[in-house]
Amino acid sequence: MFIPTTSREVASLGWRRLDIILVTGDSYIDSPHIGIAVIGRVLLNAGYRVGIIAHPDVHSADDIRRLGEPRLFWGITAGSVDSMVANYTPLGKRRRSDDYTPGGQNERRPDRAAIVYANLIRRYWRPTAPIVLGGIEASLRRISHYDFWSNRIRRSILFDARADVLVYGMGEQTVLELAAAMDRQTDFRTLRGLCYIASRPKENYLRLPSHTEVSRDPQAFTRMFHQFYRNNDPLTARGLCQQQDTRWLVQNPPALAPTTADLDAVYELPYTLEQHPFYEAQGPVRALDTIRFALATHRGCYGECRFCAIAVHQGRTVYGRSEASLLHEARRMTAHPRFKGIISDLGGPTANMYGFECARKLEKGACPQKHCLYPRVCPHLPVNHDRLRRLMHDLRRIPGIRKIFVASGLRPDLILADRTAGTRYLEALVRHHVSGQLKIAPEHSEPHVLARMGKPSIDACIAFRQQFNRISRQAGLNQFLSYYLMAAFPGCTMGDMQRLRHFTRTHLKIAPEQIQIFTPTPSTYGALMYYTGQDPFDGEPLFVEKDNRGKKRQKEAVLPAHPHRRSYPKRRVSRKKA
Ligand code: SF4
Repeated sequence: MFIPTTSREVASLGWRRLDIILVTGDSYIDSPHIGIAVIGRVLLNAGYRVGIIAHPDVHSADDIRRLGEPRLFWGITAGSVDSMVANYTPLGKRRRSDDYTPGGQNERRPDRAAIVYANLIRRYWRPTAPIVLGGIEASLRRISHYDFWSNRIRRSILFDARADVLVYGMGEQTVLELAAAMDRQTDFRTLRGLCYIASRPKENYLRLPSHTEVSRDPQAFTRMFHQFYRNNDPLTARGLCQQQDTRWLVQNPPALAPTTADLDAVYELPYTLEQHPFYEAQGPVRALDTIRFALATHRGCYGECRFCAIAVHQGRTVYGRSEASLLHEARRMTAHPRFKGIISDLGGPTANMYGFECARKLEKGACPQKHCLYPRVCPHLPVNHDRLRRLMHDLRRIPGIRKIFVASGLRPDLILADRTAGTRYLEALVRHHVSGQLKIAPEHSEPHVLARMGKPSIDACIAFRQQFNRISRQAGLNQFLSYYLMAAFPGCTMGDMQRLRHFTRTHLKIAPEQIQIFTPTPSTYGALMYYTGQDPFDGEPLFVEKDNRGKKRQKEAVLPAHPHRRSYPKRRVSRKKA
């Protein structure tokens, strides 16, 4: 059974009125990998009557009125991806395709979708139940943030959407508590994991520089961002407040981390692993091909790559599911009519962070001034891949499963740092879990660019490549590594890209065909560097390529020569000192 999306489905359940209506920019895909399905199922499981409206028509009342008005609240998300990232390439061109939209055509998700949907609700339902924002777009735009697409500091999305509450991070627990508070008509403003608007700052909360100040002064914006970033751990974070206009944004501390049992319970809910038929009739979604039979082992990431938003959204602490829950989910998949014996991914934000975590972090919170993996793996992190290796082994023994792939990105430096089980894990991975190619993300070769990115030295990539090739050769497997590489990250010059080109040809023996141009995603250190042109940790001025032609040139410097591509003057290439 799906969560209802039509009035006929609501009536067939014998419901007269819904408690909560969730509105999303994606199609309704009923999978534990899709936030709206998770939130909907968690609320449904707690006894609330929930409906979903997916990518509503924003030019008419037809979609937004079809389920009536909710008793408790509207929940809005732009979808699985920030709508501006989903709609535009890093060079500002409109994307033609969208993996979460029926038929794959990028025509349903409006720009700044959360704001547009809030306005849509108010246009056709006035007055109405409270509007609650959630999902990654809201989470990353909850305080003043640099918005690459308008090239300015925007205020909190809560103000621009004129919504009542914003749930940030992974919101299951907060949204359940919010629904209960609204149902009882008690004050929800004390709940963890949410932001709201107040007429005055909250006592004992940390006051961030105001929106006006950070909009005018890049140094104030840098100070604000450090304070925001360091107050993101549930065990240590203070509440924050920031003056936006005459009013204040109040951010309560993050929701407490889920226990293993909490996480297991989320994945035990009866997802159909299908697109709802109402939307499937408009066309299939490509995203299902990759997520339908994928297993998520954990949440969170302590990699803290500075172009990535996961540490801000999911946190720096990794929380894993139990082996029993993962094995049970895999067995359930084998009974699915579409299952052909292949699990497309066993992973999470990073594939090999399952099964170990720093005891200090779990007890006292992540170190505010230190990174767990940069510049090298912290000695306090008890890296051990054995639990993951055993899980892979047990999954392979389930009848009906022919192959389990690891498609999520790997951290080679973690494998190399694992003196106990790293080699055993890599043997198992290479022999059984690679679908022809394995993706790793060195991103660059140049030490000073890697340092700005918060990535490890390229030596880890070279050592990993040697081991991968050796094991593949011994196993008689014709498989290879593919590499995520990035152009135009702050600090990266054309000369750095030419050295990267040299590195890929001489050390990796490839001519890469895919290079990603850096996108300054809101609330990341990468976006901060892009905006200020300064390293936020040492204050050093940075070259930042902001011109689209320059960005394109950086990318093309590494790509193979193409008959129709303009060739660039050859320069002497030398390794630059770190
Ligand atoms: S002690 Fe090391 S591994 Fe633990 S939180 Fe601090 S930096 Fe991370």
